Amino acid sequence: MNISTLAKILGTSISDLREVGTKNSIYGFFGRNTRIPYNSAAAITKIVRPDKLAKLENDDRIYLPSNIIVADFAESIGRPVGQVIRTLVMNGIMVTMSEKIDYDTASLIASEFGVEVFAEDGGMFEDESGNSDQLVKTVEYENTDKKMVLRPPVITVMGHVDHGKTTLLDTIRSTNVVAGEAGAITQHISSYKIEYQPKDDGNANLNLLKGKSGGYKMTFVDTPGHEAFTAMRARGSQMADFVILMVSAIEGPKPQTVEVIERSKLSKVPVIVAINKTDLPEADPERVKQEIAKYGLVPEEWGGDTPFISISAKNNIGIDKLIETILVHAEIAEPKGEIDCPGQAVVVESHLDTKFGIITTALVVKDTIRVGDIIRSGDSVGKIRRLESTDGQVLQEAVIGDPVVIIGLSDLINVGEAIVTHPSVKDANNQANIEKIKKAQSKKIIMNGGTVTATDNQINIVIKADVFGSLEAIKESILKIPQEKVKIVIKSEGVGGLSESDVEFAETSGSSILAFHCEVSSKIEQMVKNKKINLVQSDIIYELLEWVEEEILKNTKHETKIIVLGKAKVLATFKAEKQNQQVFGAEVIDGKIFSNKELRLYRNREEIGKLDIVELQRNKVKASEVNISQQFGVSVTGKGKIQKDDEVWSVDEILVK
Ligand code: GDP
Repeated sequence: MNISTLAKILGTSISDLREVGTKNSIYGFFGRNTRIPYNSAAAITKIVRPDKLAKLENDDRIYLPSNIIVADFAESIGRPVGQVIRTLVMNGIMVTMSEKIDYDTASLIASEFGVEVFAEDGGMFEDESGNSDQLVKTVEYENTDKKMVLRPPVITVMGHVDHGKTTLLDTIRSTNVVAGEAGAITQHISSYKIEYQPKDDGNANLNLLKGKSGGYKMTFVDTPGHEAFTAMRARGSQMADFVILMVSAIEGPKPQTVEVIERSKLSKVPVIVAINKTDLPEADPERVKQEIAKYGLVPEEWGGDTPFISISAKNNIGIDKLIETILVHAEIAEPKGEIDCPGQAVVVESHLDTKFGIITTALVVKDTIRVGDIIRSGDSVGKIRRLESTDGQVLQEAVIGDPVVIIGLSDLINVGEAIVTHPSVKDANNQANIEKIKKAQSKKIIMNGGTVTATDNQINIVIKADVFGSLEAIKESILKIPQEKVKIVIKSEGVGGLSESDVEFAETSGSSILAFHCEVSSKIEQMVKNKKINLVQSDIIYELLEWVEEEILKNTKHETKIIVLGKAKVLATFKAEKQNQQVFGAEVIDGKIFSNKELRLYRNREEIGKLDIVELQRNKVKASEVNISQQFGVSVTGKGKIQKDDEVWSVDEILVK
């Protein structure tokens, strides 16, 4: 409350109030503060005019100064100081109870406790006329003339495990980034940027963004995970411009390789195939090309549009050609990003660190983010406390295309979620509340499992939506989903609540029902359940589209076969040091046992479990394979209790068609 208002209520002068307040050590009366916290106003009123206490009740706001000692802050918001410090630490702010924090920080922490606070000087949010400063800024941000600038292309590397993804990322990084000091908070590097100097003269003047060194700026992101792929696209924040698909020239495509191909098709991200391990004598890149072409990625030299580059990630062979191929394609794609708008980043990774709290790795996708910015992701609000490049340099700000490590969010954020900057804590909190309500209101409801089996590679659906506009939007989006192998057929469509005849029609036409924003009465719900019809209900279009895509993927079948590479007989079991592991000694009785392949456990010719090898040893030395008649020791994880005389089979899953 304003000190002059308080003085009026109490019938005294401001200087008298300051004097009494200071003498009685009441917080907020020292210095020249014009705003007095409610608790302080109440305390002084009790001393000077207890009869006026009731008059104060109309202002129970908590006012905080621009800087406040942690212990005082805890007292102001009425929370134990230990809890406050813990919350501060979770936000990456290492302070003791006698240290000061600024108003923004205090306000964020208070909001985590569900307490609303206000700036003591008042100027932060409201001017004399009561107009809020933040409103003016919001209007500025609503400018719809987007200003776009060139940004570095973003490339993600995907592929089957062991085909060399990590090795490729390491090789590109070590040959194109001047190794800096490892940062305090950067541990696992999930993304980084490089400045690439073209080796091919023809590529010296591409219309792409160049960095300080004169090289082309590029950003590489480790596999963001498949769900993230779908989620990012659905939220319109495609993270990668290109996928490098790593395929081993020895093994050829594996089930995971094909999954990447199918997902890239759905998300329409161009794929560049890197055939890896071509340094090995048994490498057969031509065979791999043919095998991959079967899944629809046709090599450029055969008249298709997918570049295939033979490389050795380990020996740095062909990597320049791979990068230059990306650059040539990037020039055509012209990757652009928006500026003169609130800064925005997309989460690549988020984890909890015992020392720093939540650490978020993100890629800046709009404008600039700066230390001190108020940020929000979904319903979680924070402030950027510390910003580092992913190679460990401490930054004050980061621009479009920069992968960064952020400390300042207090929740783990899902990969692919956007982090946006806000002009004030209040604005961020308002939006966070809206997000909270949205989240609570919209729950994707799937009835009867929601999984369909396509008949004749066809999935039938019935769409119901609230209004024609949304119905059209859903239909249009579904038509845009590539449906090479599995087709989506809209059997019926309509607006309004879900009716009995809709359910009956879905039953007779063998369709699943997609219901957007429309009412489903409990009677209809029961009917859907009884008839075992798939119903997917959501208030968010992309959730419905996500379902459609997942069903297409599930029904895009590629037959796989398990082949047995070798068999071994268990000679003895030993006590394992780690609880979830088992250790045993065995002898190979057929073929070979490989350290990087799955083991199946057999007893009396019956399969009783699946095991993953932690370490394979021959003569107490780590080995990648053991041959027939050789004995070995092995530690494994997985289900199935191993006994003497059991058999373990080394198996591999291969694609048949
Ligand atoms: P990821 O699981 O896809 O990340 O694969 P890694 O990068 O961890 O590589 C798996 C194994 O293959 C490692 O032992 C690498 O040293 C090896 N490797 C990766 N690239 C090559 C290559 O070009 N040639 C050879 N000979 N081995 C490679």
